Amino acid sequence: EAPILIVGAGHAGFQLAASLRQAGYEGPVSLINDEPHLPYQRPPLSKAYLKGGGGPDTVMFRPEKFYHDQRIELISDRVVAIDRSALQLVCASGASRAYKHLVLATGARNRLLDIPNAGLKDVLYLRSLDESEMLRQLFPTRRRVVVVGAGFIGLEFAATARAKGLEVDVVELAPRVMARAVTSEISEFFQRRHSEAGIRIHFGVQATSITSNEGRVTGVTLSDGRPIAADLVVVGVGVLPNVELAAEADLPVASGIIVDEHLLTADPNISAIGDCALFKSVRFGAPLRLESVQNAADQARCVAARLTGDMKSYDGFPWFWSDQGPDKLQIAGLTTGYDQVVVRGDAGQGSFSAFCYKNGRLIGIESVNRASDHVFGRRFLAVNGSIPPEQAADPAFDLKRALA
Ligand code: FAD
Repeated sequence: EAPILIVGAGHAGFQLAASLRQAGYEGPVSLINDEPHLPYQRPPLSKAYLKGGGGPDTVMFRPEKFYHDQRIELISDRVVAIDRSALQLVCASGASRAYKHLVLATGARNRLLDIPNAGLKDVLYLRSLDESEMLRQLFPTRRRVVVVGAGFIGLEFAATARAKGLEVDVVELAPRVMARAVTSEISEFFQRRHSEAGIRIHFGVQATSITSNEGRVTGVTLSDGRPIAADLVVVGVGVLPNVELAAEADLPVASGIIVDEHLLTADPNISAIGDCALFKSVRFGAPLRLESVQNAADQARCVAARLTGDMKSYDGFPWFWSDQGPDKLQIAGLTTGYDQVVVRGDAGQGSFSAFCYKNGRLIGIESVNRASDHVFGRRFLAVNGSIPPEQAADPAFDLKRALA
């Protein structure tokens, strides 16, 4: 019997293999990955792993024994082509592998900075375990880092680098941090906290070139002409979904591999999940591609259910978190398109939430150091609950009452 073949062993691929076994699937399951590690988690790479001294085993989902016990075959190889008519994959090693069902969980890769000198060895990125390892080993030898991009990963890295004693400058084209992802209330809070920690953030400018001396980074030049000295540059300007395998096999792709509400591609023998998938969202009535652990893991569970006979539309409720220095940001729901924001709690005290409304309905909650609001949001919004803005803003109103 040919296996269920999973390409990519990140959060989506790992969870799918594990969930297939949990759901009682008895047939062969193979997980192919092109990284030289057991499947591992990414969030700690810009948080605890980057900061601490834990070994690679601290980020692994499971030890090797798990795969052995669960009869999940781990294959270290890179898939280079899909032969859909033969139900086969071609790998970089030259091996071909038959599949019964193929799941593309290829994730995303770093978007590269395209400016002069961006190829120097001290211009680094942060997505893989090896990159996180390299960065944390560099900390003791570096004094000044320029971080390009004030998104989640750039800011998490900046906070850790600062805590390690480096001088940190962050360069951001938008007028505020995490501008595409959060409300200005949240941006302002984190800007203040990062500034208080001694991080300098430069808004409305781009890095236009990297200066060097004998191959070593000496700084970054900004679009307004200012130079910033640095002996390390870390780039966090977003990712590109890995869609090429699908595209070359003539599967429809756009800003992700296009899948329907069951996470199936146009080929009934091929699914796609996680960061690489542009899925038809029943919940939001629009195609979506999300980059989060929740999305990867819940989509994996949905496909595992389908492959074991329980076919249903994907309806995962989105949530996300980011740890920056001592502060924890948690987001429940998708806040894009909000037209009204109500603050609950006190930003000055470092614990508050932004309740986001669209046409009078609550659509998402962004919480800072306020886990109870986040937990409320995940439960309440998942069943399409809403409370009037006045209640959200009223500290005397007990959110649990709305849940009852
Ligand atoms: P990936 O994790 O990218 O895994 C895909 C794997 O497939 C990779 O190992 C890749 O090398 C492999 N692959 C690709 N193509 C091939 C091929 N042709 N052949 C073989 N193998 C292939 N999300 C949160 O919700 N909260 C957080 O706090 C958070 N923090 C993060 C911090 C960092 C530093 C990073 C990088 C991400 C973070 N994320 C966070 C996002 C989250 O990690 C991703 O959404 C998640 O990893 C997506 O899982 P995935 O399995 O779809 O893809």
